Amino acid sequence: MKIVVTGGAGFIGSALIRMIINETDHEVLNIDKLTYAGNLESLEPVSNSDRYHFEHVDICDNDDIRRIFNEFQPDMMMHLAAESHVDRSIDGSAEFIKTNINGTHTLLEEAREYWTALDGEKKENFRFLHVSTDEVYGELGEDGFFTEETSYDPRSPYSSSKAASDHLVRAWYHTYGLPVLITNCSNNYGPYQFPEKLIPVVILKALQGAKIPVYGTGENVRDWLFVEDHAKALIAVTQKGKTGETYNIGGHNEKQNIEVVHTICDTLDELVPKENGGRYRELISFVTDRPGHDFRYAIDASKIEKDLGWTPKETFETGIKKTIQWYLDNIEWCEAVTENNYDLERLGTGL
Ligand code: NAD
Repeated sequence: MKIVVTGGAGFIGSALIRMIINETDHEVLNIDKLTYAGNLESLEPVSNSDRYHFEHVDICDNDDIRRIFNEFQPDMMMHLAAESHVDRSIDGSAEFIKTNINGTHTLLEEAREYWTALDGEKKENFRFLHVSTDEVYGELGEDGFFTEETSYDPRSPYSSSKAASDHLVRAWYHTYGLPVLITNCSNNYGPYQFPEKLIPVVILKALQGAKIPVYGTGENVRDWLFVEDHAKALIAVTQKGKTGETYNIGGHNEKQNIEVVHTICDTLDELVPKENGGRYRELISFVTDRPGHDFRYAIDASKIEKDLGWTPKETFETGIKKTIQWYLDNIEWCEAVTENNYDLERLGTGL
């Protein structure tokens, strides 16, 4: 197959492309604008493959997207490009509206024009996969899980822009028959995540001996999924998913943020003990909470398990060990991707 991946220089997109190139015979064209979050270094392991191609393009640019559809003639589009950090969406929502909503609209329109002109098997087999988040469902209390039937109730500029894009994708299925698939996934972690999200921030702050910021009381709960498990789920959905359907993807690993931080600190105590015998937990500092911070997310992933046979391979305990070891071995990657654009400073206070 010929697959277009958007946002392939980002955290999840690069994991997906590394997996497709290393484990299948498919050909991939990566469309990425290379924002602060996009780094071609993350694709270095596959960049020499003659089945990997790159276009430095903004998904909002109709002309470029049309040219790529016409030249590459894809069998599949896997759409991951987005502004993805809730804190940044609180500080400035405009880019989130542009890329997540207008960009998705551009892709849908260009995909529709391309797909409409196809015929035979090529038309029958074409798929448009839209990769989204569980944050569109809003927040849960102490109990319950998000299912595919849960009503949308997004609370942040980020999640509302993703919710809007999900609605557009569904509308293009119902109105025009475009063969779409939608996935809503929980929090990902793993190698190559830009060091602005919780897990890499905690690892790097701890290694610097700096204060480790924990929002509010640290009791907010997230369900954590190892990024390679997410990539496998996306491939399963494109192979076996039913068009027009939504699949929730989750790791069955609900943790309070403070538990995640404790696990990282304790693992670092083992792997890189402090010379003075101190413990990394001593660096934890509780800071003002994120405005509108959703209390709890938890995913019921039984549909994708039952219908497509996907289950996560990593537990949080195995995945977090691999992740911490990767950051310890790849400090140069962290320095290269943050150079001149991010200093691990606090974002998203709403001030
Ligand atoms: P990321 O921020 O690491 O990467 C986003 C990529 O998109 C970057 O390479 C960036 O350069 C590119 N991009 C941004 N704007 C673009 C534009 N206008 N045109 C072309 N490229 C552009 O994000 P991620 O964490 O890899 O997330 C990927 C997708 O998965 C997003 O759609 C996100 O909403 C979704 N998602 C993420 C998580 C998570 O925990 N990270 C969980 C569920 C769903």
